Amino acid sequence: MNHMDIVRQAEENGVKLVTFYYCDNGGIIRGKTTHVSKLGSRLSSGMGLTVAMQAMSDMDDLLLVDGMGPVGEVRLIPDADTFTVLPYAPGRAFMLSDLVETSGRAWDACPRSFLKGVLDKAASMGLSIQASFEPEWYLMSKGDDGRFVPCDESLDNASIGGMFARDVVDDVVSALELQGLEIEQYYPELGHGQQELSIGHADALGAADNHIIYRETVRNVAFNHGMYASFAPKPFPDQAGSGCHMHLSTWDRSGESNLLYDAGDGHGLSVLAYHFIAGIMDHLSGLLALTCPSMNSYRRLSPGSWSTAYACYGPDNREAALRIPSRFWGSEMASTNLEFRPADSSCNPYIALGGLLAAGLDGVERELMPNESQWLDVDPSRLSPDELSRRGIYRYPESLDDAVKALESDTVLMDVMGSKLSESYLAIRRADWELFSGHDVDYEVKHHIYKY
Ligand code: GLU
Ligand code: MG
Repeated sequence: MNHMDIVRQAEENGVKLVTFYYCDNGGIIRGKTTHVSKLGSRLSSGMGLTVAMQAMSDMDDLLLVDGMGPVGEVRLIPDADTFTVLPYAPGRAFMLSDLVETSGRAWDACPRSFLKGVLDKAASMGLSIQASFEPEWYLMSKGDDGRFVPCDESLDNASIGGMFARDVVDDVVSALELQGLEIEQYYPELGHGQQELSIGHADALGAADNHIIYRETVRNVAFNHGMYASFAPKPFPDQAGSGCHMHLSTWDRSGESNLLYDAGDGHGLSVLAYHFIAGIMDHLSGLLALTCPSMNSYRRLSPGSWSTAYACYGPDNREAALRIPSRFWGSEMASTNLEFRPADSSCNPYIALGGLLAAGLDGVERELMPNESQWLDVDPSRLSPDELSRRGIYRYPESLDDAVKALESDTVLMDVMGSKLSESYLAIRRADWELFSGHDVDYEVKHHIYKY
């Protein structure tokens, strides 16, 4: 859409305020808002933002990161294709934005530009990426004591759960449709009050944008109903965690052939798919700091909870870090994809997806083949420690601290992120660890349930 059309659409829809959103290193969606009368000029000039925001912890402490102090500005430049009138907030619209230097150059610490860079690299290798995020979340009310309470005590997939959450879920569906997202399926998840409403895949940048739109929509619609929604990985320690599994497939330039598929292979996977799997498995420990980046993430990742805990991959294996989903009859090629399960919605979707793809592309470039003994079609918790070690299946990082250390020592991921993004990102994750490891679970939950 060109700028004049955006302004016209805003006016025709009675929009008064337009927010330019971005997602920061802590996975927090932040933004600045312009009045519609200034929208025309701000579409090109952007809105000013202090460079310090990318060094702001998710507790709003400004961390010491070189070049991200009180001096210096970037611009929030909205992507014209993302203008969205908000169905759940009359008079409001938003746009998703890049962080751009005042010189007009993409800022090296911009997460959305980081993903674009990885996608450019994939394109230069002849690959176009489709992806989707599969979020789980809790629908809750707030008790008189200020604590959040799940909206029901329903069972997994149980019709009664659908009944309690129906009004909110129906409004979320309508609001997502009005914003152009495709709804796939819905069910009340295992945890009390936990929901899973999945949306269709899109080009990788669109998929990450959609995840921001999704988080905003769910939380706002719940709020309109006098309720709350949380995407925190483990908002209730005695209930199921909320994952946000990431699905991806790689296509040729025309978008007609899914290059992960090979009908002639025993598992229906191409050599490219094996390279991709090998790259992801090779970088798994460091990747966790990007896809499961909060303190609360590691309360979710435990054996036996389907969040995964071990470095293995396998067919429809929901305890494997990488699940190879079974294909659907009649659309075998199109439905071939890889599902990365140790991921949750406390991540920055641009950084998490960019990192995951960079790991896969590294496998393609180095023509890596996965360790066949990590292929597993049983629950890894059922194997003896000897069997696990014989197969090279290890328990991946059990704490944010260990994942962050693994990321720091992963030179491929560090290089692709570049120094500004990696230094600021690591500073924020270390600050999380330092703060939350000194507190109890109540404190951790209180500060995650509200933010994500
Ligand atoms: N809630 C599980 C998780 O934490 C996933 C359950 C499922 O397979 O949908 O990832
Ligand atoms: Mg689920």
